[in-house]
Amino acid sequence: MLDPVHKTGLIHKKSDVYYYYQVIYIQVNLKKKNGEKMRLGIISALHEEQQGLMEAMLDATTTEHGGRVYTQGQLWGIDAVCVLSRIGKVAGAVTATLLVEKFGVTHILFTGVAGAGDAGIAVGDIVVADALVQHDMDARPLFPRFEVPLTGLAYFSSDHAMALQLLTAAHGFLEHDFMEVIDAGQRAAFRLAQPRVHRGLIASGDQFMHDPAVINALKVALPGLVAVEMEGAAVAQVCYELGIPCAVIRTISDNANEDAATDFLTFVSAVAANYAFYIVRRYCQALAKHGF
Ligand code: SAH
Repeated sequence: MLDPVHKTGLIHKKSDVYYYYQVIYIQVNLKKKNGEKMRLGIISALHEEQQGLMEAMLDATTTEHGGRVYTQGQLWGIDAVCVLSRIGKVAGAVTATLLVEKFGVTHILFTGVAGAGDAGIAVGDIVVADALVQHDMDARPLFPRFEVPLTGLAYFSSDHAMALQLLTAAHGFLEHDFMEVIDAGQRAAFRLAQPRVHRGLIASGDQFMHDPAVINALKVALPGLVAVEMEGAAVAQVCYELGIPCAVIRTISDNANEDAATDFLTFVSAVAANYAFYIVRRYCQALAKHGF
């Protein structure tokens, strides 16, 4: 800002009229830039959840900071920064903060896997968050259960437009890419007959959910729950506090029950990367088409 204003100040000495034109021109330009130019941060917890995206980046450069590698470049026409957060709420929160404060992203997308949060949701289904909650936040009796103290909030909304664009990308993936990129062996092994897309509440906490009693109690406490995972709500809180639109999309890897650990590991290594890659590709291509 300093340079253009200073330059305009010099012009001011010569002609008042020209000075005003210059100032207006600069303001319009900045406004246009802020309003239109997107820089998308893409976070996943695990390598397998983002495999392929970094390789697909054009003009990629990497920066190591705080024990993580941030890869910046162009993804199907979108200016993007990809990073692996590692597992858990603090890992998600610090990664989201740095993406905004150090790498200048304007939007954040989290893509990964999750446990099912409802009996009607199966392994291989896709969930898009409408809102996110930290299921292990409990400062009772000082604050209501799930409320993040001193924010007055328990639920952090995802960005409506981003969520809608992701839903479209997820439907497109299942309709057009799924049969091609997930082979018959994998479809049989994971009983992926007709995967579906769901939207709703995602709950995050520093706990891998594998006890049916725990997940059942949580479903009662959190109506509308579609999935459980370990980072999304922390990223959503950071984005809320920094005023950055964010969205979370997850492929269901397990049922958050006694089989969760085995199902999770095999699904993540065999299938999850393909879901993430093709959904993010559709998402970026649609954004690029609309001039973001
Ligand atoms: N044992 C695994 C740990 C995975 S933790 C390992 O060694 O790699 C599970 C990761 O997937 C987290 O990033 C979380 O966000 C997501 N996830 C998938 N299923 C989950 C479940 N049932 N409960 C909690 N998080 C789950």
